[in-house]
Amino acid sequence: MKNLKDAKTERVKWLHCIKNELFNLMKSEKPDSPALQWCVEMLQDLEFDAQEAMGFKKDSDLHSWWHMSPHCTCCSEINEKHFGKFGKIINKGCPLHGHMI
Ligand SMILES: [Zn+2]
Repeated sequence: MKNLKDAKTERVKWLHCIKNELFNLMKSEKPDSPALQWCVEMLQDLEFDAQEAMGFKKDSDLHSWWHMSPHCTCCSEINEKHFGKFGKIINKGCPLHGHMI
């Protein structure tokens, strides 16, 4: 049982490392780069994996990394404050997420 818990903890740590590397890649791109949309999709997959690794149900409304992405102009403070209540609060002008509304 301990080994399974350790493996899950290790998986979550790795997912955080991959997320940080993805953020570094995103920082190196211009806000209008088409590559950023691939990064948005990869980040969503990472968040789903993290939810699974932590034993939560997979729910994109309960993701918390997306609004921390480089170039994202959606308000982190509002999204953190209302986490889990209304889904995502997206800024229409955000180059990463504006097309979602
Ligand atoms: Zn955004």
